[in-house]
Amino acid sequence: MRLAVIGGLAAGPAAAAEAKRRDPAAEVVLFEASAFVSVGACETRLVAAGVLDDLPSIPAETLASTRGLDVRTRHRVDALDVRTGTLTVEAMDHGSRYTDRFDRFILATGARARRLGIAGEDAHGVFALRSKEDAHALRDWLDTEPVRHVVVAGAGPVGVELAEAVRLRGLRATILAPEGRALAGLLHADLGAPLASALRAAGVALRAERAIEILTNAAGRVRAVRTDRGELIGCQAVIVAVGIEPRTELARAAGIRLGATGGLAADDQMRTSARTVWACGDGAEVRRVVDGASVLWPVAPVARQTGRVAARNAVRRGGPPATFAGVTGAAAVVAFGLELAAVGLSERDAAFAGLDAVAVQVAGRSRSSVTPGGHPLWVRLLAERGSGRLLGGQVMGAEGAAWRANVLVPLLRARATARDLAEDTDLLYTPPVGPAVDPLRVAAARLAAAAR
Ligand SMILES: Cc1cc2nc3c(=O)[nH]c(=O)nc-3n(C[C@H](O)[C@H](O)[C@H](O)COP(=O)(O)OP(=O)(O)OC[C@H]3O[C@@H](n4cnc5c(N)ncnc54)[C@H](O)[C@@H]3O)c2cc1C
Repeated sequence: MRLAVIGGLAAGPAAAAEAKRRDPAAEVVLFEASAFVSVGACETRLVAAGVLDDLPSIPAETLASTRGLDVRTRHRVDALDVRTGTLTVEAMDHGSRYTDRFDRFILATGARARRLGIAGEDAHGVFALRSKEDAHALRDWLDTEPVRHVVVAGAGPVGVELAEAVRLRGLRATILAPEGRALAGLLHADLGAPLASALRAAGVALRAERAIEILTNAAGRVRAVRTDRGELIGCQAVIVAVGIEPRTELARAAGIRLGATGGLAADDQMRTSARTVWACGDGAEVRRVVDGASVLWPVAPVARQTGRVAARNAVRRGGPPATFAGVTGAAAVVAFGLELAAVGLSERDAAFAGLDAVAVQVAGRSRSSVTPGGHPLWVRLLAERGSGRLLGGQVMGAEGAAWRANVLVPLLRARATARDLAEDTDLLYTPPVGPAVDPLRVAAARLAAAAR
């Protein structure tokens, strides 16, 4: 058995290691176009802030020797022929190309940062963050150039985290958020005020504008961003954080089917439309359990788990196939002194799914009222009208938001109702981590009544 795993950042190494664990006799080759494998991209904000010098990663040699893999960095797979089982590979350091035959393939080609598609985007001082090299480039620019002001285009999780990193360096930061608020994809507008005031307090300007052009000086370095309101914002660096696009060109050229999201379509065994090809990671569609929709859910635990499922099936000789249980859709950002977490559907998602949803929002405290040091905490829960089935939740506060959001994950997976959470879920009670009647339970009780 020769297995090729294409892509070596998060999903690929998890898949390759799992394949070797399951079938030690298999020859597993991991191809990665960049120089690095097994990279912790989630720490990019710390590198940008100058807190960490580099993103963590596992040296290719260590990955190879400890997992028994053939790891080929700086090897880009240019073509996959599923009919003949052949890969065409560019050995980038040797300037050569070769072909190699395999029995099975796992595509872990991930995603690239979406571009703004505007003039000036390729100027010196414009950054999009996906890889170790991207983090180095931003770090080096901020370390060595006379940067005073950074414009962050995009107010999603990455944009917000990087704006905080910029402020931690003592630089001015402006976020361009055409929606008029930060984390609009994660949090309902009614939860917007605390985040907006945290941004203001941290000295971050948030402008409801879109970048339409990046202007440069004679040396080709960024000097300003022009917005759709005709404003010119002077700056010495631009961070583009407007989402991701699955990297699918290899699969498309191989005739592998894409889903409606533009990601690789895969079944619950992570098998693609080609019999010998599995997919995993940020580039692969997964099922959202709450509404059954096929979605892209580009987070590291999902990347690694889909990788392991793909690997188990790719090397399987018998027995039942491994299946991926889908995602609830959990995401969190911790920035500017707030934890902001969301699980499951938003009201917009629910409407799109044709679900009749009811929402309630409550404000409470993170600790019992007599315990010093508590903070305001906001909980917004969503349920299906009639059945009361929980559809989603959003929790925000200076502390205790992420653990409460995590409580919702298994409940959504189990199709629990608001009443189940309000009455039959024995959340722990310890005054320093929550009041006796937790805001989560208060919200659930109100929701159970409202959803009837
Ligand atoms: C700034 C930032 C912060 C993040 N924070 C979090 C967080 O807090 N929590 C969380 O869960 N997730 C976070 N993520 C997301 C997480 O990093 C991703 O989910 C994870 O990296 C996905 O891994 P992947 O292997 O699927 O894809 P990718 O990371 O996109 O890696 C794909 C790899 O495949 C390689 N490749 C592609 N095509 C080829 C080819 N043809 N030949 C050879 N190699 C190829 C690429 O070079 C790349 O290294 C963050 C991401 C970023 C960018």
